[in-house]
Amino acid sequence: MTTGKDKELIRKLALLNAINYNGKARFQPVFGKLLAEKPNLKARVREISPIVAEIVEAVNRLFLEEQEREVKAKWPEALVKEKVEAEKKLPPLPNVEKYKRVITRFSPNPDCVLHLGSARAIILCYEYAKMYNGSFYLRFEDTDPKLKRPQLSFYDLIREDLEWLGCRWDVEFIQSDRLPIYYEHAEKLLAGGNAYVCTCKPPDFRKMVLAKHACPCRNLPANEQLSRWRKMLDGTCGEGEAVVRIKTDLDHPNPAVREWPALRIIDTERYPHPRVGSKYRVWPLYNFACGIDDHLLGITHIIRGKEHLTNQKRQEYMYRHFGWEYPEAIHYGRMKITGATLSKSKIVQGMRDDIFTGWDDPRLATFIALRKRGITPEAIRRLIIDVGPKPVDVVLSWENLNAHNRKIIDPVANRYFFVHDPKRMVVKDVSQAVTAKVPLHPDDPEKGFRQFQVKPENKEASLWISNRDMSIVTKGKIVRLMGLFNVQIGNVAKGVVEAVYHSESYEEARKLGAPLIHWILADTGIPCEVVMPDATIARGIAEDGCRELKANDTVQFERFGFVKVESVNWKLKVYYAHR
Ligand SMILES: [Zn+2]
Repeated sequence: MTTGKDKELIRKLALLNAINYNGKARFQPVFGKLLAEKPNLKARVREISPIVAEIVEAVNRLFLEEQEREVKAKWPEALVKEKVEAEKKLPPLPNVEKYKRVITRFSPNPDCVLHLGSARAIILCYEYAKMYNGSFYLRFEDTDPKLKRPQLSFYDLIREDLEWLGCRWDVEFIQSDRLPIYYEHAEKLLAGGNAYVCTCKPPDFRKMVLAKHACPCRNLPANEQLSRWRKMLDGTCGEGEAVVRIKTDLDHPNPAVREWPALRIIDTERYPHPRVGSKYRVWPLYNFACGIDDHLLGITHIIRGKEHLTNQKRQEYMYRHFGWEYPEAIHYGRMKITGATLSKSKIVQGMRDDIFTGWDDPRLATFIALRKRGITPEAIRRLIIDVGPKPVDVVLSWENLNAHNRKIIDPVANRYFFVHDPKRMVVKDVSQAVTAKVPLHPDDPEKGFRQFQVKPENKEASLWISNRDMSIVTKGKIVRLMGLFNVQIGNVAKGVVEAVYHSESYEEARKLGAPLIHWILADTGIPCEVVMPDATIARGIAEDGCRELKANDTVQFERFGFVKVESVNWKLKVYYAHR
């Protein structure tokens, strides 16, 4: 037989598991923990497992707040462990002693706003620079005015995103300011026989390079290379007619590494650069500009995704031609977040197709959207430090980020009632006026209370409750109106719930196992719109105290979720963060 004690233990394990996973306990870990704590139950797995399943299910029907409240009341010690859980630290960087000072860089192309996919590069580079008292540089890689066309607004939006993340950069560079530097280095390579101006048609060149053959341009003398180079610069050659290539091993096993292009012509009369217009027509490609800059700016540690491994192979040839040493390079694995679009091209396409309402559309994982929704930069930082720079791929979910965020905002967010999709409840037999006193924060009575005066008329009190709770308020059931009193549900007709006053105390409600629901006095409150993560709007009424809220406040609507205030006037507009 399963004892009451066993059931209580199962409930505790299920509640703790649920709290750690955003309110949803899972059978397997709960069952595993149970058998670990009570090995004698192993002989009775068949009998125990349906009981565990039933308790897990019951726990999952509760709101996270209710789960936490129960654990706090019954096993407060169980929550302590979670709180002192040490914050993860980043592993050390390699070969730090080789350099006077660690210098890292984040180098975005200002053709889009930043999103969660960039967070890893930014936060790791910033945190490592801080860890070693080094420097963190911001470098705009804006050398493709045609296909990855930068836009002036994005330079500022990216700066704002970095400031918001708390990753303040020490020095800023913009590659479109540095074209003379790239030209000078191109000339050095051409004059030294380490690069050449290739005028072959791309398909012809591709055939030759795949066959590991030099194209006819490769071995022309340096003076011919420099003369071709001048024709690229002065406009004699048009777009697509010539490209500077870096010499590599013709038989490098990866054809993508062989004879890579370093600079090309872009018709900037047709595609002017947003910052320098048509001043230049020869533009460096990614590997050339990035490779030169990493050396010249003294970057000691490059921290980036492993999709850049081939780029390192390419750039190492150029470093050898110049006699430079390649910086330390750390390549981390891919990071996916299920349900979030982290592909820049997909975000940009969605914007073009008007699928999204703006860069701050709640469906996007852009930093602008995240901050609108009340996700804190500290939560993003903790998520990234947890993942670290490891080379294996990781798959995360929104829940991972939400869990970090919840730990940060839950202790400080004030609580309010928001009745979503309001339904009327009439409570009879309320013999006298009652003042409900509900704390602004359940763990912090010093924050004060919200008070609601219920004054019955003809012994009747009229309230709003949420449509979501219609499945709880069934005939005959006793429910507790949070902070007020307990009622017994009568008829539910035409959307109006009739109820009768039952008793006052919370203890009574607990003894009866009465569920808690929130409410708002009829004829009070402020209309409220909640923008949900899927961009739909949840409408309802928020309690009067919400009139005092200000834009950017983060609060919790009890039994609904955390929200961030967008605006308050005759109505309240908020963005939903998470439960
Ligand atoms: Zn050629």
